[in-house]
Amino acid sequence: MALDFTLTEEQEFFRQTVRDTVNRLIMPKVAELDEKEEFPWDLWKEFAGLGYLGLRHEEKYGGMAMDKVSQMIFYEELARGSCGFAMSVIMQILMGTFFIARFGNEDIKQRILVPAIKGEKIGTICFTEDQSGSDLGGTRTLATKVDGGWRINGRKQWITNGPIADFSTVMATVDPKLGLKGLNFFLVEKKTPERDGFAPGQRLHKLGSRCSVTGELVYDNVFVPDENFLGAEVGKGVQYAGEILNEVRVMTAMNALAIAKGAMDDAKQYANNRIAFGNPISKYQLIREKFAKFWAWYEASWTYAYKCAWMIQNQVPCINECMLAKYHATEMCMYAVEEAMRIYGGNAFCSEYPPQRYWRDAKFLLYGGGTHEVLCDYLGRIYLKD
Ligand SMILES: Cc1cc2nc3c(=O)[nH]c(=O)nc-3n(C[C@H](O)[C@H](O)[C@H](O)COP(=O)(O)OP(=O)(O)OC[C@H]3O[C@@H](n4cnc5c(N)ncnc54)[C@H](O)[C@@H]3O)c2cc1C
Repeated sequence: MALDFTLTEEQEFFRQTVRDTVNRLIMPKVAELDEKEEFPWDLWKEFAGLGYLGLRHEEKYGGMAMDKVSQMIFYEELARGSCGFAMSVIMQILMGTFFIARFGNEDIKQRILVPAIKGEKIGTICFTEDQSGSDLGGTRTLATKVDGGWRINGRKQWITNGPIADFSTVMATVDPKLGLKGLNFFLVEKKTPERDGFAPGQRLHKLGSRCSVTGELVYDNVFVPDENFLGAEVGKGVQYAGEILNEVRVMTAMNALAIAKGAMDDAKQYANNRIAFGNPISKYQLIREKFAKFWAWYEASWTYAYKCAWMIQNQVPCINECMLAKYHATEMCMYAVEEAMRIYGGNAFCSEYPPQRYWRDAKFLLYGGGTHEVLCDYLGRIYLKD
């Protein structure tokens, strides 16, 4: 009897606690957060105060050091509220602080990680450039070795939390000709009168997830000391990035599950109340089929995503599985948000009703953690090889 998908009592309790917090603090403001397109500092402080920003970090730095399944529960419950706020919080918990916790020396951890967990400093991860997104080997941001440190030159775009960031983990190449083998991570702080650093560039205005602020960061010949090189060896950046990709992909699946369920739960209310041809539209078979299909795909996505969370926790190799989980949950979510739009009829097309927000928020999932074309290309190759 080894196959067991039950959560522990602690995990169930944690889910309920996060759900209550999201219901109390985020749910009443969901539409406003989307409309205002501003970073919600009040919510940020509340979540930091509750300790959630330290979810995956060691207790000695102020973290909670929770297991991977609980971390995924948090990502799922949080995205059930505001997808934009979830993006900002998850950036801080996961990608924005991972390399600092993994490779930073004690001084860096005290100076950057501890305040990041308290919500006092905001972090980012910076891969994307104008000519390199999926193709990291095309990175042009250059790291040049100099006496006592490195000089960083380049521009990064599409950076979540970029416009409000205090520090960044930036991917830079020691030589663009080396492609993936030239890549490395560096800690670069924001420029101040006392310190060299990055400057925020243009802010982007997004289709969805609008309360997470996103923009460009500019590295203009920035000097960083040797200890800001985040790695054990030059040229191993892609390998280090691989250490977190499984988590990023399953986290994205969790966000997809949350958005899909939110969209279809709202659509259920609507379908039960909207009268057409003398009946609630939920009485019509073509409408019911949408819910049946969604339910089948949702349950499969949910179970598989949590299986992957369990595999990560138990250090079972699962690169392909995590890609499949991200792909399946995200495609399921695209189906759900599209069908929710149809169930609302013309009302879907105005901001007074929620399905357009779910639809806009969901589109982001297609890019983070690998675009579907890139994932499918890889998965297809692997499947055909076996
Ligand atoms: C809301 C949001 C937040 C983001 N936050 C961050 C962040 O914090 N930090 C960061 O570094 N980046 C961030 N990004 C950028 C994101 O990581 C990139 O969008 C993603 O890596 C894809 O790159 P791209 O947009 O340049 O698309 P491209 O790589 O240019 O792809 C364009 C199209 O070509 C397809 N394609 C590319 N290569 C192949 C191939 N080999 N085979 C088949 N098809 C292919 C893609 O699937 C896509 O359809 C964010 C993006 C969004 C939308």
